[in-house]
Amino acid sequence: MTVMSGPQPTSVLPTGAIVPAPAGDGVVAPLDLLGLSREALAERFVALGEKPYRATQVVKWLHQRGVVDFDAMTDLAKGLRARLAEVASIRLPRVLRAEVSADGTRKWLLDVGAGNGIEMVFIPEAPRGTLCISSQVGCALNCTFCATARQGFSRNLTTAEIVGQLWLARSLLADAGPEVPPITNVVLMGMGEPLLNFDNVVPALELMVDECAYGLARKRVTLSTAGVVPAIARLRERCPVSLAVSLHAPDDALRDRLVPLNRSYPIAELMAACRAYLEDDHRSRITFEYVMLDGVNDQPAHAKALVRLLAGVPAKVNLIPFNPFADAGFRRSPPAAIDRFREILIRAGLMTITRKTRGDDIDAACGQLAGQVQARNERLRRRRSADAAAALQA
Ligand code: SAH
Repeated sequence: MTVMSGPQPTSVLPTGAIVPAPAGDGVVAPLDLLGLSREALAERFVALGEKPYRATQVVKWLHQRGVVDFDAMTDLAKGLRARLAEVASIRLPRVLRAEVSADGTRKWLLDVGAGNGIEMVFIPEAPRGTLCISSQVGCALNCTFCATARQGFSRNLTTAEIVGQLWLARSLLADAGPEVPPITNVVLMGMGEPLLNFDNVVPALELMVDECAYGLARKRVTLSTAGVVPAIARLRERCPVSLAVSLHAPDDALRDRLVPLNRSYPIAELMAACRAYLEDDHRSRITFEYVMLDGVNDQPAHAKALVRLLAGVPAKVNLIPFNPFADAGFRRSPPAAIDRFREILIRAGLMTITRKTRGDDIDAACGQLAGQVQARNERLRRRRSADAAAALQA
């Protein structure tokens, strides 16, 4: 493991834009360039009296070419460049720590302010390169086997912070050497539950698939959810990327324990939402993730129940060997149990793979992402005790 420590010189940017005070009493929000889809940016440009096609030019500079210096945007009129320098802001997360695993997996800890850090992981498998990004600081879902859950929840990431991870990873990997593949796939499988941050996640997805921005095929962008059922239908309407569902159990009694969100959206509702997601799409499949926990959900009876559950759903199954962390309270299923489980699914005609454990020597594997989370409840607790102490002194 190589550790490149200390702040990396990645924040190139004109942060903290100067905001003109309006005639009224409010403050005009700076034009957050990274955080706007092309369509939204065009609307903002029109409101500024600019031509909407200027948004396409700016999006190409920012996301396709990775240029954030307005002066370098040579096909924009000088006046517009000067205006952008005045009203627009581009903020990228800052790299606090970078690590490379023995297997080439890279993990970065990114500073998103106020003591909060998120983690982002790049998994090279030439010719593919998969970037795993976060959608929230921490997570509120409390899945019992997940390290992120232990940290609590702080806040949603903004669109700029979500898409900024892709911007940053591309720039960080640009000098990584010819043997490192480019980013061909993006998965929202890092920290957080993306469908609980729907309004910020969707514009980021739109930029990922926009041919003027990152131009990734929809099937190469995967959103993973623990099963926020109502948001699955909304995602299909707004930006139908590939869907992965963290199932982990074939029945409600067990899933209620492992994924507490199941108590709100039980398996039958989740399966109906999955079928509806693929209704007019006969080529795609939903990926069902299933973490293999020794003696908990890895028995042949569970595999058979899973086969029955997934009958009629266009599915692939990813078995994820449990990745341990301190005080997890679970053990990874032995390889023989995983093989036996997979055999039962395959014999029933289910496309099934066992996910290779990548980057576990740097805690970059599924469920090990922890970042730095100033959990709200913890902050609140501290603030309350500070208030109480102040009241006592008063
Ligand atoms: N909240 C979303 C996104 C997280 S994706 C979701 O639940 O899908 C991260 C994936 O890793 C999920 O499938 C999650 O259940 C799985 N995971 C969590 N902890 C794990 C662990 N310790 N070992 C293996 N997989 C884990």
